[in-house]
Amino acid sequence: MATSTFADLGLSASLVSALTALGYEEPTPIQREAIPPLLAGRDLLGQAATGTGKTAAFALPLLQKLPSGKPAPGRPSLLVLVPTRELAMQVAEAFHRYGRALGAITVPIYGGQEFNRQIHALRRGVHVVVATPGRALDHIGRKTLDLSALSAVVLDEADEMLDMGFADELEQILEATPEARQTALFSA
Ligand code: AMP
Repeated sequence: MATSTFADLGLSASLVSALTALGYEEPTPIQREAIPPLLAGRDLLGQAATGTGKTAAFALPLLQKLPSGKPAPGRPSLLVLVPTRELAMQVAEAFHRYGRALGAITVPIYGGQEFNRQIHALRRGVHVVVATPGRALDHIGRKTLDLSALSAVVLDEADEMLDMGFADELEQILEATPEARQTALFSA
């Protein structure tokens, strides 16, 4: 089988050049499988362990689909839910790296960090929120996070989040999102 490039998968020139600058030579298998359907707006169930390139597999197409223009305060277009604070920081950093050329603004939201700092970041306007479920729900309750403008939600390491007992939180968060949003779920 001929090896596809990131451009073959449908990624824009600015993302492709960002990837080249990062030294990514070709897509990994999960990236080849996930990028085209996510770009097409389809829901996706992905099975991929850490280290397989799964973060880029959802980050790249969903960044490309972000609406242009300045985001409204506290109303992101994209929400990524992750089980731990470490993963929140790591995934937000990946979005930052890939999305810099597009001007995408990403903020990580996790427990243990003071609310005011997160509220301040959300108020400035963000395209992407990467959050742990408990803290995301806290912000929704305080009305500092509004999911009504969400175009997509990603459940990263969904199996891990369920193992950690986050099922109720996930359900409540998903209830606060538009029905027509795109959904991607990844598990190991
Ligand atoms: P992840 O599975 O998302 O935790 O990614 C594992 C590591 O692979 C990260 O350090 C990424 O920067 C790197 N990576 C992801 N995709 C590629 C690629 N296509 N080529 C080279 N490195 C990659």
